[in-house]
Amino acid sequence: MTSINELYKRLESCDICPHNCNVNRMVGEIGKCGTNSSIIVSSYGPHFGEEPELVGYLGSGTIFFSGCNLLCVFCQNYTISHCREGRSVSINELANIMLRLQDIGCHNINLVSPTHYAPQIAQSIIEAKSYGLAIPIVYNTGCYDKVETLKALEGLIDIYMPDLKFSDPNKAKLYTEAPDYFYYASSAVIEMKRQVGILVVRNGIARRGLIIRHLILPDNQSDTIEIIDFIAENLGTDIYLNLMDQYYPRYQAYQYPKLSRSITTEEYSYYIDYAKSRGFRNPKYIFGYG
Ligand code: SF4
Repeated sequence: MTSINELYKRLESCDICPHNCNVNRMVGEIGKCGTNSSIIVSSYGPHFGEEPELVGYLGSGTIFFSGCNLLCVFCQNYTISHCREGRSVSINELANIMLRLQDIGCHNINLVSPTHYAPQIAQSIIEAKSYGLAIPIVYNTGCYDKVETLKALEGLIDIYMPDLKFSDPNKAKLYTEAPDYFYYASSAVIEMKRQVGILVVRNGIARRGLIIRHLILPDNQSDTIEIIDFIAENLGTDIYLNLMDQYYPRYQAYQYPKLSRSITTEEYSYYIDYAKSRGFRNPKYIFGYG
């Protein structure tokens, strides 16, 4: 297994994610994710808009990281991902943020867009754990992740929560910075399941496991049928699958006619019915939250 030191060293010729920019982030160089070695946090606090098993009674301890390695044209959080709003925090400060979220009763630490900060986040988790951090760590990712990097995080992450997007490279090329998105995302999600397995919930609170999100885009722009088939065939139908219905056009979406509206009730029902027909029979595993 890769050590955290080795993971950190990779920032010197960054290959943390599949972009393989090979820039030296330790001397201030910036890759496609828009970040050097500084950790930029946009905001943090208890969040109540996540899956019920993460929110519980006191919220999911969400930390929003700035920058992104996917940069979707329809990003709902574009001021954070594209515009990189936020402030720089040290490894120690990030560890303290995690401990503060635990102190106020959050049920987990929910790391939003963590991929490009994997080495720094790993160090912060280790530090926070040495000071008593004990709640589950959630890796809330767009899933353009490398298996090699995920393997280095094994044992630090309790719940993986990838948003598995389109399978068609043409759509990935049109809507993101990653034409090879599904090639990497499909391997990443299998590695995530290997590490943490099916979601375990105790007393209504998620403890460990895999939650797969899929944001349904209008006019079949998210390859939802293919994504459901992939999950059924490669991960099984007892996976916690959240088919999200809340898309609305944001950022540059209006420049793409097929993305210029929300999804309809009929579209959403069609995909829910299809998921059930593929064997996702327990309605507990099909939600519209997000
Ligand atoms: S993490 Fe950023 S700099 Fe590193 S390979 Fe990915 S996009 Fe490039």
